[in-house]
Amino acid sequence: MKIRYDLKPAAQRRTAPLKPEGPLSFGQLRTDHMFLMDHVDGSWRDPRIVPYGPFSLDPGAVVLHYSQEIFEGAKAFKHADGEIHAFRIDKNAERLNRSAPGLCMPTVLVADQVEAILALLDVDRLWFPEQDGASLYIRPFMIGTQDSLGVKPSNKYLFCVFLSPSGPYYPKGFTEPIKLLISRRFHRAAPGGTGALKTGGNYAASLRAGEAAHDLGASQVLFLDTTDTWIEEAGAMNHYHVTRDGKLVIPTFTDTILRSVTSESVLALGKAALGVETVQERIPLAGFLEGLKSGAITEAGGFGTAAVVSPVGAYVFEDKTEVLVGGGAIGPHTRRVYEVISGIQRGTRPAPAGWLFKAPRVV
Ligand SMILES: *Cc1c(COP(=O)(O)O)cnc(C)c1O
Repeated sequence: MKIRYDLKPAAQRRTAPLKPEGPLSFGQLRTDHMFLMDHVDGSWRDPRIVPYGPFSLDPGAVVLHYSQEIFEGAKAFKHADGEIHAFRIDKNAERLNRSAPGLCMPTVLVADQVEAILALLDVDRLWFPEQDGASLYIRPFMIGTQDSLGVKPSNKYLFCVFLSPSGPYYPKGFTEPIKLLISRRFHRAAPGGTGALKTGGNYAASLRAGEAAHDLGASQVLFLDTTDTWIEEAGAMNHYHVTRDGKLVIPTFTDTILRSVTSESVLALGKAALGVETVQERIPLAGFLEGLKSGAITEAGGFGTAAVVSPVGAYVFEDKTEVLVGGGAIGPHTRRVYEVISGIQRGTRPAPAGWLFKAPRVV
């Protein structure tokens, strides 16, 4: 892919490393540039890096009415060598290409997605925050841009990648574990639907459930399948639990659960690296609750790029009753998984081959 560079004039670009005063919150900042590419007449055109800013869109653009949109989320880290390394962005690119056909959208070659991200990281490398535990969050996405009110796939698409300098998710380390609402009222995904695709529509449809969770002091919903029998996932992270006999269990990926790159990394690392066997099983809610009460389940939490691991201390139900996990404390396996994955990402532990992508110095 031949990327065209239409950069900001040097005087308007960041010229010294970003040194934030306090801890940066997630997603707050943008960098100087973004990557864009158009899909017209069946092929991707004009891959380019341009100044970050608003783009114009027809009010009738398909994405604005019928939500033809897919996105990804990944992170890059600065290692002791001073270079920027992106974590498993080929996995994100592959997932975007699984989401795309589900919304009748074109795919983008994995190599081109990786190249676009690395080129953008190179151009805006001075935006990496000089702050402990910081990262550059990477947001690729694609939208249907045709001005058309007929309900059919767009004939034009825009693919974009932008970056967001972010501070540590846990500036003070793990403090309070989170609470999840187990809801029988709200469902995130139905069989045959879009639950396994990373599309904005899933998020729009889960906002109200999220508000209901907040009203009960929970940070997210732990969604069940539509029969209220099986544990699926939280709105923006997969779920896991650890058993007393030393197994870390993630619900089996179905067409109503998104395949988290963090979960896949935990599964791939397994016992050798994590000290606990990592498996996937279908998890019946009844058995899960029994395990919490009997002490057979000792730890639980969520896996996702933003936090890596979100330890869960309790579950709350719509009738306001609560069940604790492991007495409400954060357990040793949860800490170990967090340390190992963060260490690999930050270059303080050896990474399995092919997990890190170094941004080449081109610009
Ligand atoms: C993005 C996402 C996750 C987390 O996936 P990661 O690749 O680990 O960031 C989990 N569930 C849903 C619904 C998601 O959209």
